[in-house]
Amino acid sequence: AKAEGRNTYRFFTKELHAALIERKTLLDELTIAVHEQQFELHFQPVIQVERGNLYGFEALVRWRHPTQGLILPDRFIPIAEQSGLIVPLGHWVISQACAELAAWQKREQTQARLALNLSLAQFRDLDLTNHLAFCLTQHGLRPEQLELELTETVLMHDHDAATDIMHGLRALGIGLAVDDFGTGYSSLAYLKRFPVQKLKIDKSFVFGLSSSEDSAAICRSIIALGHTLGLLIVAEGVETALDLAFLKAFRCELAQGFHFSEAKPLNAFTKTMWPAA
Ligand code: C2E
Ligand code: CA
Ligand code: CA
Ligand code: CA
Repeated sequence: AKAEGRNTYRFFTKELHAALIERKTLLDELTIAVHEQQFELHFQPVIQVERGNLYGFEALVRWRHPTQGLILPDRFIPIAEQSGLIVPLGHWVISQACAELAAWQKREQTQARLALNLSLAQFRDLDLTNHLAFCLTQHGLRPEQLELELTETVLMHDHDAATDIMHGLRALGIGLAVDDFGTGYSSLAYLKRFPVQKLKIDKSFVFGLSSSEDSAAICRSIIALGHTLGLLIVAEGVETALDLAFLKAFRCELAQGFHFSEAKPLNAFTKTMWPAA
């Protein structure tokens, strides 16, 4: 048993060592990637549950790594957040998403909304509001078309400063949504405190919707609660027609997920894919 213990210990140090090396390498590579803009955006359509027409797109960043191929954000956003690289990366995401949506709208002769994800460090960046306003003007987008998705971590931190920035963004006409709702805590308190218009139910609740009574009850309650507060509800992670039927019965307004489409380059979508608005 003693020998086994030692082996386990050696195993863990080796694993830990490898993990640290991988992390350091990724950080070095990410620094270069931000300079060289080795990123691309994929967009996932957001659909109006009642009529099935297009509401807008959520932009999701990917890293086109020179040797590893496409890397998903869960592997590099945490490193970008801890290193501060998320600020320049986030600036790129905002500019690029606005540019791509403007080009898509011109090609399709229609308008769509754009949802962007924002990390805490970006939200503390004094330049954020100016940068957003600049990008909207530059690409001829209305502020009402843009919506920022904030997680509970962003909302929990620094209440006063966060509230000021949010009111400033609202004054410009930009929309605010709570992302991953239900996964953090203090959910109810900040819903009243912050000027948000939308709630996104975390996909972990939506996944079990049509198979688990608990998940169905949680989704139904979040939707009812949100409606009481005058909020629009988005369900993410909608993978089946049955999930969608539940959401429709619960009067959830908006949905996104693999049932409709995964995130893809924006030019993969045309307005004829959905009923006319
Ligand atoms: P999120 O904002 O909660 O985005 C939803 C994630 O769920 C996306 O993963 C999306 O591809 C995935 N998804 C959508 N529908 C389904 C479905 O039906 N089934 C399943 N299994 N998954 C689905 P992705 O693209 O890997 O993004 C992961 C997270 O990375 C995002 O979670 C967001 O928190 C973060 N992220 C992505 N882009 C950005 C960005 O530009 N800035 C910041 N700060 N964070 C970002
Ligand atoms: Ca999101
Ligand atoms: Ca989410
Ligand atoms: Ca998430």
